Amino acid sequence: MNISGENYIGYKNSAQNSETFTTFNPQLNIPNSWSFHEASEEEIDEACSLAEMAFPIYKQMPGAKKAEFLRTIADEIEGLGDELISVYTQESGLPEGRAIGERGRTMDQLRAFASLLEEGSWVEAIIDSAQPNREPQPKVDIRKMLFPLGPIAVFGSSNFPLAFSTAGGDTASALAAGCPVIVKSHPMHAGTGELVASAIITAAEKTGMPNGIFSNLNSSGIEVGQQLVLNPKIKGVGFTGSIKGGMALYNLAGEREEPIPIFAEMGSVNPVVVLPSALLENGENWAKQYASSIMLGAGQFCTNPGLILAIKSTSLDSFITDLGKEIGELESSCMLHPNIHENYEKEKQKLSNQGGVNVVAENEKSVSPNYARQKVLTVNGSNFLKNNKLQREVFGPFSIVVRCEDANQLEQVISKLDGQLTGTILGTSSELEKYSKIVQAIQSKVGRMLFNGVPTGVEVCPSMQHGGPFPASTDSRFTSVGTSAIKRWVRPVTYQNWPEHLLPMELKDDNPLEIMRIVDGEHTNRKI
Ligand code: NAP
Repeated sequence: MNISGENYIGYKNSAQNSETFTTFNPQLNIPNSWSFHEASEEEIDEACSLAEMAFPIYKQMPGAKKAEFLRTIADEIEGLGDELISVYTQESGLPEGRAIGERGRTMDQLRAFASLLEEGSWVEAIIDSAQPNREPQPKVDIRKMLFPLGPIAVFGSSNFPLAFSTAGGDTASALAAGCPVIVKSHPMHAGTGELVASAIITAAEKTGMPNGIFSNLNSSGIEVGQQLVLNPKIKGVGFTGSIKGGMALYNLAGEREEPIPIFAEMGSVNPVVVLPSALLENGENWAKQYASSIMLGAGQFCTNPGLILAIKSTSLDSFITDLGKEIGELESSCMLHPNIHENYEKEKQKLSNQGGVNVVAENEKSVSPNYARQKVLTVNGSNFLKNNKLQREVFGPFSIVVRCEDANQLEQVISKLDGQLTGTILGTSSELEKYSKIVQAIQSKVGRMLFNGVPTGVEVCPSMQHGGPFPASTDSRFTSVGTSAIKRWVRPVTYQNWPEHLLPMELKDDNPLEIMRIVDGEHTNRKI
């Protein structure tokens, strides 16, 4: 398929704007040949109007029909074959194996949401039957379930060109919920985005979806995203990226006449607490595992372990030496884009210049352009507590080891941290009991707690929580990974005393979809 560089406004390709931009091959350090038309104001408005018109039609479609659409998207993405992998690698600098793995994850996510819809209980139907004889007052029949919000704007993320972009978790969950989606394609991988958009449009046509169910907008600046968030037809936003970008969109949405939810997943340093036994018994092994985790994907993961916390001891000294040695031996790898690389070098330097920090390991070799030279620093607990800058996310292969005086100071350090996606504890289960205050302190800061593992590598499954207290995300009650992500795009509606034949299928007495419901306090799939 040829990459046209055009916007996908529902079923129409459109290139009204003569202003274009290109993507960049960071491995070769040259621009790619494709050029993309910036979406015009009219194209943005048209995409929003089509999505608004598609919403009532799509919303009414049965779950099985929406599931067919999601499964067909997955098949169409698979059908793009090697071309998708080739464009992905040319636009991201990431290796082919990663591209193939991420494509698999993207298709699995779409299929997982399809299964969720086919099973049907996700709408959380609750029925409280009428009690006409209740004293002192009779009770009416009340029934509740979840309904979609309306058109959703999705911002593709730079670090997951497939799994968190055009047909990634945000899009899959919003379409599953019954919401049309308008994607603001990430400018660093607009070609990958267009290929995936074409797969979604083909799937929409094949499965008879309404025009406007999906649009894909190109842009290399912030204006298109701003207009999208401000458009009154948009009813929710999904975003993954920087705290600066996420908060700019969050504040912008606050200027709207009608406020809407902005689900932004932003920065995290993912603290790792290494308890004494982990250092004594397994320090060398953990140093090896953490060196790999820090370096994975050139450190460009929201779950990268950017902060390692421990109580000072000779075994901590050995761990730091081992970590430095392991990190020093690993080869650097290419970052996503010269801008991300430049930002990494700048932020790394800023933290290296802070008072009281010492270098544990630093790659000072000369490397190819856009390759990330890894660095690990160490600082004592008192200096860390005095300087809030030391907990800033440095997006890349970078981490800081904090040597605390004792368990009390370790607890103080954790208490000072901002909200995080993950928190990890290395040790024994008896230590979890002994250091229960530290465990509690971690629990209050994070969305996912890990024991004896590394935070990188997020499993996509219903029990996954990928989101945490601010600034990890703007709303810690929700996840952007796993099937619970659908809950971001719905709202509950109660039907009181409603005629049985006009109730939605999910709330009817005879339960035609045979879904699990809560009927008069009992979890059941029985008829009433
Ligand atoms: P970003 O700068 O936050 O941009 C993400 C998307 O939001 C882009 O499409 C961008 O549009 C748009 N955007 C940013 N600011 C905006 C604003 N004020 N108004 C409207 N739209 C706006 O993130 P990025 O480009 O992916 O990477 C930059 C940095 O973000 C990285 O170096 C890293 O520090 C951080 N990051 C963190 C994570 C994480 O998971 N923790 C993930 C990715 C990135 P344009 O590009 O078109 O301007």
